[in-house]
Amino acid sequence: MTAFELSAAPIDSASLRARLARPGAGALTVFEGWVRNEHRGRAVRRLEYEVFPEMAQTEGQAIVEEAAVRFPGCAVLCVHRSGVAEVGELAVWIGAAAGHRAAAFAACRSVIEELKRRLPVWKKEHFVEGGSEWVDCTQEHNPAVRRDEYHARQTRLPEFGPEAQVRLAAANVLVVGAGGLGCAAADALVAAGVGRLTVIDPGLVEVSNLPRQSLYSAEDVGLAKAATAEARLRARNPFVAIEGVVGALQESNARARIAGRTLVLDCTDQFAVRFLLHDVGRELGVPLVQAAVIGWEGTVNTFGLAPEGGCLHCLWPGRSVGELAAVGDCQGGAVFGPAVNALGLVQATEAIRLIAGLSVASATQTLFVSWLDYTTLAVSRSAQPGCPVCGGGACVPDGGVLRPADRAGLFLATAELEGCGGEWQVLNLEGAPLSAEFARHAVVDAAGMPWAELRAVASRRPTLVVCAHGVRSAAVARELRAEGLAAVWALAPENFP
Ligand SMILES: [Zn+2]
Repeated sequence: MTAFELSAAPIDSASLRARLARPGAGALTVFEGWVRNEHRGRAVRRLEYEVFPEMAQTEGQAIVEEAAVRFPGCAVLCVHRSGVAEVGELAVWIGAAAGHRAAAFAACRSVIEELKRRLPVWKKEHFVEGGSEWVDCTQEHNPAVRRDEYHARQTRLPEFGPEAQVRLAAANVLVVGAGGLGCAAADALVAAGVGRLTVIDPGLVEVSNLPRQSLYSAEDVGLAKAATAEARLRARNPFVAIEGVVGALQESNARARIAGRTLVLDCTDQFAVRFLLHDVGRELGVPLVQAAVIGWEGTVNTFGLAPEGGCLHCLWPGRSVGELAAVGDCQGGAVFGPAVNALGLVQATEAIRLIAGLSVASATQTLFVSWLDYTTLAVSRSAQPGCPVCGGGACVPDGGVLRPADRAGLFLATAELEGCGGEWQVLNLEGAPLSAEFARHAVVDAAGMPWAELRAVASRRPTLVVCAHGVRSAAVARELRAEGLAAVWALAPENFP
């Protein structure tokens, strides 16, 4: 049972309720919209609904079917009045029956919100004093919430001003992933006043998501993330057109989803999606702001703004997506909640700066932040010569020092290190000791070491930089190379200690 109906006669709620009865339903949520005797200070006598039946039927049916897909297991019935309705009569009746109340509440709410936005039904109010007026149902949010007042504190910033606010309102942003990063970033972007925002995620809210994923409550467990996020974001800022898409971003739909956007935020935790977003965005000329978090630390990179900053393939040279995914995907990994939220905010900040026309630090640098020791680093990125995707262009310094054969890339496996003699040193960025395979090389404890000292140590002899997850070691090795040290590598992802 998922149906939308138009009725010229008064709506009988008891009979509709009976149609939704089913043994598996533990909850029925009913919304009734009533014709009331007042609107914005004027006494109302009756309402009149003008409907083009075919159009309204098609759109109404689409809305209830979408709700049934978004909230699996829900039965949804909706009846909307047409013609003249007197004060006290029902204008619209929505019932959602589900196994559990959370899905029933959410489905019911989602249907009324979508009806208000999309249903081609025009409402005319007839007043007691005489006369009548059409009502714009799509603009019926609280009139006390004014757009200029909403953004007043932000537009007062001298770097921002009303011009940047206009640019934000014209922006169309895609947020891929509605986990911790996506919740924080989408919330900040919606609050900042982007014009349109789509959030896409195939997942359901899980209990272990709740500490980090600020758009969800305990009662949302089991509901689709994208649909739940959409409702929450819409309530946050009524001036933003929000769309929640329950589904995965994949090769078959990436172009259609990304085309026409101002920018894309990658808030996923999978290398395969990360490269897909990067490559399609690059092809379509849509910039990408990426964030990744592991444990207590994370990074933010923006691609597609500055060619000299290189591309994602420059950042992970010579590694296939499969190889990276095998070691680097952080689904279900241990993570510090505030680090995720904070990185999402950094990501949103870069997106807002990009849209507003301010400088974007992560366009040519990897922004790295650790919440374990409050380290922050902005490490220069550069296009790698011979990059198969962006073609490189920059020059990697080569001081003629010892380097293993055929290893111009940034990463080095421990096996390759073994074949390079004993003159190497291993720069250990972790506080913890390394495993035995590093024992025959000089290991330098570089945890918390100031940059100048780190640079001095690394300039002595060929250096392999090692950390727990490969994020900081790659960033540090890249920065050391950028500062002219050619014989520096980061431990290859498959060898993380
Ligand atoms: Zn490249």
